[in-house]
Amino acid sequence: MKRTPLRASLLITACITLLLIAGGIGAPTLGALPVSPAALSAVTDASPSAPARRPVNVILFIGDGMGYGQLSLGAPAIACMPIQTRVTTHALGGAVTDSAAAATAMATGHKTTRRHVGVDEFGRRLTTVLEAVRDAGGLTGLVTNAALTSATPAAFAAHVSDRRSTRIIAAQMVETRPDVMLGGGAADFLPGTYDRSHPPLEQAKDAGYEVVFDSASLAAAQRLPLLGLFAGDSLDYHLARDPAQQPSLAQMTAKAIELLSAAADQAATATAAGRLGFFLVVENDLIDIACHDNDALILPTEVTALDEAVAVALEFSRTDGRTLVLVTADHETGMVTVDERGEISFGSDEHSAWEVPLFAEGPGQDLFDVDLIDNTDIAMLIAQALGLYSTFVETPSNSAATPAIAGAR
Ligand SMILES: [Zn+2]
Repeated sequence: MKRTPLRASLLITACITLLLIAGGIGAPTLGALPVSPAALSAVTDASPSAPARRPVNVILFIGDGMGYGQLSLGAPAIACMPIQTRVTTHALGGAVTDSAAAATAMATGHKTTRRHVGVDEFGRRLTTVLEAVRDAGGLTGLVTNAALTSATPAAFAAHVSDRRSTRIIAAQMVETRPDVMLGGGAADFLPGTYDRSHPPLEQAKDAGYEVVFDSASLAAAQRLPLLGLFAGDSLDYHLARDPAQQPSLAQMTAKAIELLSAAADQAATATAAGRLGFFLVVENDLIDIACHDNDALILPTEVTALDEAVAVALEFSRTDGRTLVLVTADHETGMVTVDERGEISFGSDEHSAWEVPLFAEGPGQDLFDVDLIDNTDIAMLIAQALGLYSTFVETPSNSAATPAIAGAR
């Protein structure tokens, strides 16, 4: 609701249209829409309406490079989420961010400079919300169709001053030990020049990880911790991938939720604030790649791939009733606009400083029912939703690492 009126009304209309189509009523014309009370109550019923409760689980979706233009290409599951706000994304030292600084802000609640992953502008380690959940006894997961060692997932589980240090990131991620890690980037885990004898893959096995390399093994996987490496670097575009080798984002999301929720139920971890389940981050990096390439044919298919993964999480959340689902972006890429004929225009092939949307559904959704937030607020609000706010902000690394102070190291 807290968007420009035009966008909001378009989205609401799209939601109602979809619900009508789903209900077999047929596609009505926009404007002269005979909105039945049933359709309206379906909009309301689609989401938990008493979100005063705290969530036990949080699933955060990040569409890399996904602004309002990209979303308007068609994301029916996301568009129907009840809470919508806008997010500012600037980095320290510049209006235009990269994925490293933006994901660090979302993971730690601190602005940092570009290329920095999980560290402040001086390179000092920042505690991430994923680490806070793990330390409180919750379960954690990272899913991406990029390399697991790329900036967005890395910022939740690694701490380096240069996002290109991907082998160090791989080793650090294994050390951080999220319960599920699914994506690409196998090359960073396999034996390399300097760690032939004990590469991150062996460290992962030592740490107890079951490691899978294709879709069938992922489907068969039954225990945690689980590491899935489905490509040397990034996975291929959703439509171009070999489905036997590379699972879809929705399939990876479903598996992560299946294993994390089962393990969380078994662990029955409780904190002072109540039950703590799992925190899962899911990224579609290929939206960003399609926008850098100004590829108008691929872009809608990647937005759809993310939407299908979000639909999996929303279905789980609506059944489970204890899971907050968030969908946002690290930044916009390509200055994408879409005209009324659906024609896509790119204004650049770089990241932009445009605000990005954030959608929320599930217990705790009202925390996000504000006009505008900054990307650093996302970490703080997730910590608050999970009852970890005070431990998260009072972590020594986080309270020490305040914004730029001249001469502080
Ligand atoms: Zn990019």
